[in-house]
Amino acid sequence: MSGHRSHRVREEGTGSPGIRSVRGLACALALVSSVSFAFEGAWAQAADGADRSSQDRFDVVVLDAGHGGHDEGATGPSGLREKDLVLDVSRRLAKKLGKRGIRIVMTRTGDRFLSLEERTSVANDARGDLFLSIHANASPSRRPRGIETYFASLDATDDDARKTAERENEAFGESAKRYQRDDPLAAILGSLIETQHLQESSEFAKLAQHELVEIGRARSRGVKQAPFVVLLGVQMPASLVEIGFLSNPDEEKGLRRAARREEIASALDAAIGAFAARYDARRGVRVSRSSEN
Ligand SMILES: [Zn+2]
Repeated sequence: MSGHRSHRVREEGTGSPGIRSVRGLACALALVSSVSFAFEGAWAQAADGADRSSQDRFDVVVLDAGHGGHDEGATGPSGLREKDLVLDVSRRLAKKLGKRGIRIVMTRTGDRFLSLEERTSVANDARGDLFLSIHANASPSRRPRGIETYFASLDATDDDARKTAERENEAFGESAKRYQRDDPLAAILGSLIETQHLQESSEFAKLAQHELVEIGRARSRGVKQAPFVVLLGVQMPASLVEIGFLSNPDEEKGLRRAARREEIASALDAAIGAFAARYDARRGVRVSRSSEN
């Protein structure tokens, strides 16, 4: 498909689905209260203003290497597996971020399957300042290539984005279904979650895409939105990168190379550094970081 670049960012407070009945509202509120632990955490933090600046400082990143275990993700024509590729890139990135004095929490460090609940609870328990999920793309055709960065929405930017999210959500099975658009309660819950950190998620996605497409021979497919359930389940700014198409033999060959993986990790490290500086500035935090590249 052509590099369709639709940047569809919904402003906070708009685009939420209508609540059509009192009973619907009651159900929605019950559902919302059942997941309110995440919001309570935020309120408790806000109420405790004693050392606000150190609490709000950008210092924890959750890295989510996609797939693992029996869920291999995409596989390239010469056999490169997404689950192995993205874990290696995540490790390289973690090493770089460590040098910035940022604490890294990885959803997985080995070849193991994690349920949707496990993945999101690792992130939410860590109270990360950013959640970054790393994946590689695939298509039935060998031709598509390029890098795209996502942030969450219940609606997809385009058909390709919707298919990508469907493929990435597949391994989560039944857990993924609660975020389907045709379930009105899920729609209400989902739009609450997605609006909470929408602006910062969008900002990070743009920074990441900007850095990633600076890499040689990288083609930009743009910043997009789609209902990736892993992004909808975390309570922090969140983004998902597709670092290339494993189904494209040329890109698969590139992604086998350590140098290419280092370039990708460096680009993401730079994007996180830039995001951290803006994040702290917005919250009035002055930080001298050990390594600003
Ligand atoms: Zn994936």
